[in-house]
Amino acid sequence: MSLEKELLAWLKENLPPSGRLPVGLGDDAAVLGGFERAGVVVTTDMLTDGVDFLLAEVEPRRVGRKALGVNLSDLAAMAAEPVAGFVSLVLPRQGSGRRSALELAIELYRGMMPLAEQFQVEIAGGDTNTWDGPLAISVTAVGKTTLRGPLTRSGGQVGDQLLVTGRLGGSILGRHLEVEPRVREALQLHADYQLHGGIDVSDGLALDVARLAAASGVGAVLELDAIPIAEAAERLAERSGRSALEHALGDGEDFELVLAAPDQEATRILEDQPLSVPVTRIGELVEETGLWQVEADGQRTVLAARGYEHRGDE
Ligand SMILES: [Mg+2]
Repeated sequence: MSLEKELLAWLKENLPPSGRLPVGLGDDAAVLGGFERAGVVVTTDMLTDGVDFLLAEVEPRRVGRKALGVNLSDLAAMAAEPVAGFVSLVLPRQGSGRRSALELAIELYRGMMPLAEQFQVEIAGGDTNTWDGPLAISVTAVGKTTLRGPLTRSGGQVGDQLLVTGRLGGSILGRHLEVEPRVREALQLHADYQLHGGIDVSDGLALDVARLAAASGVGAVLELDAIPIAEAAERLAERSGRSALEHALGDGEDFELVLAAPDQEATRILEDQPLSVPVTRIGELVEETGLWQVEADGQRTVLAARGYEHRGDE
């Protein structure tokens, strides 16, 4: 039996049954039900050994979890409900370490499955190949918009307050693999409050805020004193030669949400603190385009939109 057939057999046995897939694994294509009048939201992301992780140093389960998690984080950024995931694997023919290619594939799926169950994502299809190169894993996630429609980067308006979930920086110390996509948080805030715009922090707070502002045709001011810094950023700063704040601004892979909300709504969110993670006000959108920082003395200066720029993916 070919690797792909063996993997398919394993998946059919091990994936939970689904009522949402009229036609599921094993046919030429998947059929997804349940969209009615909702918009279909699609996002895809590829991770490659040697670029996004080092397979020699990390458990493949964690790679699998991350591959699905980053896509769910993008659905969260759009305030979309996850529906299905499609997984394409290119496996090293000889496997990795003591694992055969099939065992490696199964471990990747074992990393994805708890996250899929947690967020009710059906693993609905994909493709599996082997070659003489390193592991590459690409996940495409499909979601649907809620009655409120999608949250977008371009919806921000002058005067909106910028809010962020959780704490930022130092994700390289482990959090970047343990992606906790803010899907529920995004859906809850989008349902209960009026939000204008949103983005997930994948490439660095400063860079992603700058992207939201640019897409909205406005500028953003960050209040550096207000940025919630992760404990990992403090730890990393002890040996990196950079400050914890710099890590919070530029590290990326935090997978938190940045939201632009009108003033009154932002105040309500901050008072209510409706999530299990803190929501913090970090600045606001302003007329003058660009990214700005304001320090304790009130001086506004240009802030570099540092972060991780992918090559050729935008
Ligand atoms: Mg994103």
